[in-house]
Amino acid sequence: MSGPGPSSVHVVGGGLAGTECAWQLARRGVPVVLHEMRPERSTPAHQTGDLAELVCSNSLRSDDPDHPAGLLKREMERFGSLVVGAARAAAVPAGGALAVDREAFARGVTTALAAAPGIEIVRAEVTALPAGEVVIATGPLTSPAMSALLQELLGGEWLYFYDAIAPIVEGETLDRTRLFRASRYGKGSGEDYLNSPLDREGYRAFREALLAAEVVPLRDFEQALFFEGCLPIEELARRGEETLRFGPLKPVGLRAPDGSRPWAVAQLRREDLAESQYNLVGFQSRLKWPDQQRVLRLLPGLERAEFVRLGQIHRNTFVNSPRHLDPFYRLRVAPRVRLAGQLTGVEGYLESAATGLAAALYLALERRGVPVTPLPASTALGSLARHLTASDPAHFQPANVNYGLFPPLGTRLPRRERRAAFAARAHADLAAWIAAHPGVAA
Ligand SMILES: Cc1cc2nc3c(=O)[nH]c(=O)nc-3n(C[C@H](O)[C@H](O)[C@H](O)COP(=O)(O)OP(=O)(O)OC[C@H]3O[C@@H](n4cnc5c(N)ncnc54)[C@H](O)[C@@H]3O)c2cc1C
Repeated sequence: MSGPGPSSVHVVGGGLAGTECAWQLARRGVPVVLHEMRPERSTPAHQTGDLAELVCSNSLRSDDPDHPAGLLKREMERFGSLVVGAARAAAVPAGGALAVDREAFARGVTTALAAAPGIEIVRAEVTALPAGEVVIATGPLTSPAMSALLQELLGGEWLYFYDAIAPIVEGETLDRTRLFRASRYGKGSGEDYLNSPLDREGYRAFREALLAAEVVPLRDFEQALFFEGCLPIEELARRGEETLRFGPLKPVGLRAPDGSRPWAVAQLRREDLAESQYNLVGFQSRLKWPDQQRVLRLLPGLERAEFVRLGQIHRNTFVNSPRHLDPFYRLRVAPRVRLAGQLTGVEGYLESAATGLAAALYLALERRGVPVTPLPASTALGSLARHLTASDPAHFQPANVNYGLFPPLGTRLPRRERRAAFAARAHADLAAWIAAHPGVAA
């Protein structure tokens, strides 16, 4: 392996995506310069100078092999993932999830990269595009200088500032006997939404539960966003008895099937055509996750709801990838530049690392002159790129890995069997892809 030099790939950002990307490149003999601005310059959320610092929770989600997050881990492990390996080494007991001691995890990644041959780590903010091949993985809190640089590169409508995330519910865990279909004022098909009606007493109890629930404290930089108009439901509840009824629980324009007018209504909008997931409209929240689940399950029809994602509010810088990225994570306007991590519009630690891994595989294969095809969309790794490149650019939103991103199976199966079938198909298709790309699983 040659050391860093003119042929080095510049990986910008030593977070979850950048560290995985640098590791994967170096393992395949591609020299890397990894640029990380911390500790010289920090972000509003990071606290240390460690590479791959986890800024919030310590969970890398489910480790169940049939769960999409568990499947993604296993696929990454086939390529010797640094992030998943360091997470396993720093794991703490967490039921079916892979949760870590955050300090031990970041230390593990930092130490491994410092010792890896072929990687030079430069601790400075990148403010101009390096020469040669570049992977930008500067994350949801990309520094202002890099944001400006991307804007210059991509032009007008390139970035979103996404600061509110509403919860997403698994469709089949809803009790539809307690919900009714309707659109406000009969718009659209007239029944585009599932509606959860509350009577006066149910509304009062729901509001009180919101007021009593525990909230994640705001950091300074989030105060500004908070007051810019994206209000969490618990804050609306706090503002007055009726405020929610004029916000996300407003009943106007909706009638129950018996013709009655509910006192308040929560609306669920489908996330995918298969109606496997629903978005709880306007329910962005800063409630701690156990409290959030408990309170949301007070809504009629959601008593046994399972959440694909819970409500959050934070700054998130990401590119409109369906417009700007090709399936190999290259910028269409400048193919020598790749993006990876949350900047591409994936959501979460694991998913960010996964895109760094995939970008590195493609880059290393290209350097060897191997003809490359994209990872199959039926794999967890490939499903992320499919989301990033095949979604409608007009409605592009970040996503965690989930089976709604995979091509359908074509058969109806009970939930547990369906997950197993998705996982089995992914393993088979990944094995075929590896076989078609000699040396890639190095
Ligand atoms: C407040 C907050 C809470 C979050 N909570 C969770 C959570 O609980 N669970 C979860 O899965 N995800 C969470 N996320 C999302 C999380 O940030 C991502 O999942 C993950 O860290 C993204 O990985 P990344 O590599 O894209 O970015 P990061 O891990 O943020 O890494 C980007 C790196 O780039 C560096 N950098 C930025 N600009 C430059 C520059 N110009 N030059 C050099 N270096 C630069 C940064 O210092 C940083 O180290 C949260 C995000 C925020 C903002």
